[in-house]
This record gives sequence, C-alpha cells and structure tokens, in this order.
Amino acid sequence: MKHAKFTSRLLKKHPNNHARSMQVDTPHGSFITPSFMPVGTRAVVNCMSATDLKSAGSQIILGGNTYHMLCSPGMDLIRAAGGMHPFMAWDQPMLTDSGGFQVYSLSKNSKICRIDEKGAHFKHPISGQVVHLTPALSIEAQKVIGADIIMAFDQCTPDIADKVMVDQIMQRTHRWLLESIEVHRRDSCSSYGLEQALFGIIQGGFYQDLREQSAAFICAQDLAGIAIGGASIGFDMEKTREILQWVRPFLPENKLRYTMGVGLNPQNLIDVVEQGVDIFDCVAPTRNARHGALYCGSVVEADGWLKFSSEDGLGRILIKKQDYKHDFSPIMPGCDCYTCLNYTRAYLHYLFKEHQLAYYNLACTHNIRVMHKVCERMQAIIMQ
Ligand SMILES: [Zn+2]
Repeated sequence: MKHAKFTSRLLKKHPNNHARSMQVDTPHGSFITPSFMPVGTRAVVNCMSATDLKSAGSQIILGGNTYHMLCSPGMDLIRAAGGMHPFMAWDQPMLTDSGGFQVYSLSKNSKICRIDEKGAHFKHPISGQVVHLTPALSIEAQKVIGADIIMAFDQCTPDIADKVMVDQIMQRTHRWLLESIEVHRRDSCSSYGLEQALFGIIQGGFYQDLREQSAAFICAQDLAGIAIGGASIGFDMEKTREILQWVRPFLPENKLRYTMGVGLNPQNLIDVVEQGVDIFDCVAPTRNARHGALYCGSVVEADGWLKFSSEDGLGRILIKKQDYKHDFSPIMPGCDCYTCLNYTRAYLHYLFKEHQLAYYNLACTHNIRVMHKVCERMQAIIMQ
C-alpha cells in the first residue's frame, strides 16, 4: 500500500537487548525493520535486476549515490526519466545519500577534491569542470533522484583525525544540516511531488563527548530519522558498537536509525541491530560475491539473540578453491535463494573459473539473500 507521507512506528522491542522492529510507510510502499539495503551506487545494484532484488527479499534499496549521479548520467537525464524509481524500474522504497562520503574519499587527493566551509569542490571526472557540491545542491539533486529517504550533506570524519579536527568537522556538519533543513523545508517533496524524509548524520569520530554533543544536536532537529556516520562505522565493529552505546540514549524511540556502510558480513547486521539500529547499507555483499566470497553459515539462536555461525568461523566460502570442483551441494545448505535452490558449488566454481557472466548474477543473488534472511530472522525473534 502506498502512503502520501513518510511515517515510522515502533512495532516491538526485544526484551533483553536494544533490538527493535519498526513499520515504515513511504510514498513507494512500506517496509519492516531491521532491513538491509543493497547499494545501487551507479543506479544499479551490480549484476541484479529489480526483479532479482525483489525475489531475494529486498524491501528498500539505496538507489544511486548522489555524487555518482551528478557525474553520470547527470540530473537532467534522471529528471527526464521521471526520477530514479522509473529509471531503474524499482517501485519500492528507496534511500539515496548526500555525496558526503564520496567527496570525503576523493578529498584524500587534494588535486581532485577540496572541502571547505561552503562544501566540496571536485573535478568532474568526465568534463574536467569544477563542481561545487554544497548542502543546498546536494538536497536539490536528491529531490531530482526522488528517493523516499534523503540525507543531509555531511563531512565524514577520517579515522585518524585528532580531536580539534574532529570537532571542526562535526560543527561544520551541524551547520550544513541547518542549511539542508532550510532547503528541504521550502518544499519537502521530490521533483515528482512525493513527500521525502530528510535524515541528519551524527559525526564526532571516536570521542565520546563529541559523539554525545553531535547526537544531542542532530536529535533536537525536526528530522524523520537519524544516521550514524564516520569512517570507522562499519569498518571497525568494536568502535561501531561503542559509538552506538554512546549515542543511543539521545536517539528518539519513534525515529528510524541508520548506520551507514554496515554489512561487511551477516554477523555485522546482527551486532548493530542488537545495539538498536534499524537500517544499514553496504556494497560488500555484491563486491564479495564478484570476488568469489560467498556467505555460508547458519543463523542460530544464542542467549535469546542470534549468531551467524559457521564451521571455520569465517562465514563464507571462497568458490575458486579446488575443494568445490566436485561439490554438488548448494553454496549454503538451507538457503532458499534462487541460486541455492537450483545450482551447486561445483557449477558456481566452474562459472567463476571460466569468468562466465552468469556467475555474477547467481553469486550476488545468494549473498544479498543471506543478508535479507538474517534480517527476517531478526524480525521474527523480535516479534516473538
Ligand atoms: Zn543461497
């Protein structure tokens, strides 16, 4: 069912940890959390069609990163297509990002990108022209993309920054949030007349007082949801867990919580949901699949919560290994994905070795399905 407005509602909380399940309604339909979002960086989730994603259980995707969409195909073309939903044939909920993370990555090379108080100045990779990505331009671009959830433009905090620098980046992110809110308040709809939900991003690096200060500031604004960002989120799970513990007391119960870039493996989803997070995105499942790392394990109950358990503790198999040449079992026993129901490890091993294109779709289908299966198990145990 389609809804005119974006709303989120707490359905149930786990009695012994911070996990929860939310019902989220958007103009492109509803979804239930915890929910993993496959990432369509360049207006496509690599090797997957919209039908493949739906069959794998995707409820919401990250449809096109704003930075990449500005570079190619450009906003004029996306607008002419009627937005990202019709462009990539995805009619369900969608989130897009602000470009903050990509310009942060680019700014490691000051010849390509520089960040100052006004925003980011980067060289267009095709035309060579300098583009000024400001908080206002980012919001306007996201209105053209037309996602149901859009993000305030932020400056990502590098892992190695000292406290003075982290503080400056955080204060700037807060100022940029106010600019983003101002633009969004003038018209909260996409270029196609549908309501969009704006999320703010908590920064503050690995400093407890700064994270708390940022959480207090972001949560005091009129926003539909709260994201937790920074270079260590999703990459260093020890730090991620600690940061979540610091900011959680500030997070309003009825608003959606999003850790950006979490999901290197299925266990990471279980770990952040335990800390009270609802949604997450990561390119790792499709990237791992392309490189031959296929998730393999079983979701088991442990002390009232879940664990992604595997014999060797790695939670994945490397399909190129000779061990699989004559292995006629599915990638992951018990998996209900299209690949596991129809194909064997031996076949995937053969396709991978031969660089057959069909391998990539079958492998991505499996890894994405495992992420969704883990989320479905978490939903079930929370709702129990
Ligand atoms: Zn499978």
